[in-house]
Amino acid sequence: MTVIIHQQRQYFNTGETLDPSYRIAQLKKLKQAIKDHDYFIYDALRKDLNKPLFESYATELASVYSELDYMIKHVRNFARPKRVGTSLAHFYSKSHIHQEPYGTVLIIAPWNYPIQLSFVPLIGALAAGNTVILKPSEMAPATSHIIKAIIESVFPREYVAVEEGDGSVSQALLQEGVDYCLFTGSSQVGKSIMETASQSLTPVTLELGGKSPVIVAPDTNIKHAAQRIVWGKFVNAGQTCIAPDYLIVHEDIKDELIQKMSEVIHEFYGMSPVTQPDYPRIINQKHFDRLTALLEGTTIYHGGKSDPETLTIEPTIVLDPDLDSELMQEEIFGPILPVITYQETGEAVNFIRSKEKPLALYLFTQNNTLKKYIKTHVSFGGGAINDTLIHQSNHNMPFGGVGNSGIGAYHGKYSLETFSHPKAILEKTDAFDIKLRYPPYTDTILKVLQKFL
Ligand code: NAD
Repeated sequence: MTVIIHQQRQYFNTGETLDPSYRIAQLKKLKQAIKDHDYFIYDALRKDLNKPLFESYATELASVYSELDYMIKHVRNFARPKRVGTSLAHFYSKSHIHQEPYGTVLIIAPWNYPIQLSFVPLIGALAAGNTVILKPSEMAPATSHIIKAIIESVFPREYVAVEEGDGSVSQALLQEGVDYCLFTGSSQVGKSIMETASQSLTPVTLELGGKSPVIVAPDTNIKHAAQRIVWGKFVNAGQTCIAPDYLIVHEDIKDELIQKMSEVIHEFYGMSPVTQPDYPRIINQKHFDRLTALLEGTTIYHGGKSDPETLTIEPTIVLDPDLDSELMQEEIFGPILPVITYQETGEAVNFIRSKEKPLALYLFTQNNTLKKYIKTHVSFGGGAINDTLIHQSNHNMPFGGVGNSGIGAYHGKYSLETFSHPKAILEKTDAFDIKLRYPPYTDTILKVLQKFL
C-alpha cells in the first residue's frame, strides 16, 4: 500500500474526523487559507488558461466559498443520526440511520475549472468526515501547484494530501484501493477509472462530459436567448463541461437568432477577441490543434480566426455542419458552436436521443407544454430553461450526469450523501423476547404473523 493511503487510514481510524466540530473547524481553516492565497489563485488561472479575474471569481472561487458556507452551516445536522419509523413487527425497537464517512477518498480533478472542481468535491468529502487525497490536473500546472501549497499550509498529509502528476498517479492510487473515488473528466477516462475501481469494489462518482444541446423554439425572446447562449458557450472559451455543445434551432427563427448572436459576440468580445487581454486561451497545443481541425471544411457564419502563438480561437458559429463529422460526433469543448435546425419538436428530440445522454440540456421557449414535454421525455443530467449553465451554481440541486455523462451527483447536501455510507441500525430492547419468529414453525403462528404484518 502506498505510504499516503496507509497514513490516511491510520489517521481516519483515530476517529478525529468523526466529530462535526472538528470538521467545521477544518472547513473554516480551509476557507481562510483560500482567502489568504486568492491573489496566487488568480495568477495561476491567468497562467494556465488566461482566465480573467471576473471569471476566476464568478466561476471558480464563488462556488468554493458558497459550498464552504453551506457545509459549515449544515454539517452538524447532517452528521446527527436520523431516527426513522420501525414496523410494528419490531415493537420496542428504534431505527436510526448513521451517516458514516467512507474513510479515504480519492478526488481526481480536470483542468478546465481547476479550482472549483478540486475544492468543491474536497469540501464535501471533508464535511462528511473523510480524509482526502486530491489529484489535480497536470494540464493546469500553475493551479495544481497553488492547490498543493494551500492544502499544505493548513492540513497534515495524513488528513488531506495533494498528489500531483498525470493519469498514472491516479491509477496507482486507485489500484491500491481507496474507500471512495470521485472523478471529474472525460467519459473515456471515466471508463478506465471504473474498470480499475471495480478490482477493489471501490465505489465511484463519475462526473463526465458529452454533447449538451440547446433547443431554441420559435416563440423565444431572441435577444435574451442570444445573450444567454453566447455567454454560456464562450465563457472560459467554451472549455466548460456543461457548455452548450450545439444549437438546434427552429427553422423559422434561425436567421434572426444567429444574426443577434453575432452582434452579441461583438458586444461581449470586441471585433478581435483573439487579441483581447481578457479572452481565455485553449489549454494546450494539442487541444488547439484538435479544435482548429474541427473547423476544416465547415461553413463559418461568425469568427473562425485563431492565433497559434497565444492558443486563442475566436468565438465561432458554424452553420449546418455535416452530422457525421467529428464536430457533431465528439464533445467540442472549445469556442465553436455548430447550428442545426428543426421544424417539428419530434425531430429535435429524436436527434438528441440518437446521441449519448447529455450532461446538460437547455431549452429556450415560453411554451409550457413544450417545457413539460422536454423535461419528461428527454434524458439528461440537468439543465436550464431560458438560460444556460446556471443550474450548476444552485447547491440545493444535485449536479451530475446520466448514462455516458456520469454516475452519481454532488453539491450541497448531495455531496454529504455522496461521501457518506448511510448505515442503518435497528436497536431492540432486550427486556423480553417474543418467540413468534423462531422454529419450530406452525401454521397458527404463520397466520398470526400474516395478519399482524
Ligand atoms: P481527462 O479525463 O483527460 O482528465 C481528468 C483527470 O484524470 C486529470 O486529473 C488527469 O490527470 C486524470 N487522468 C487522465 N488519464 C487518466 C487515466 N488513464 N487514469 C486515471 N486518471 C487519468 O479530462 P480533462 O481533459 O481534464 O477534462 C475534460 C473533460 O472533462 C471533458 O470531457 C469535460 O466535459 C469533462 N468535465 C466534466 C465535468 C463535470 O462536472 N461533469 C467538469 C469538467 C470537465
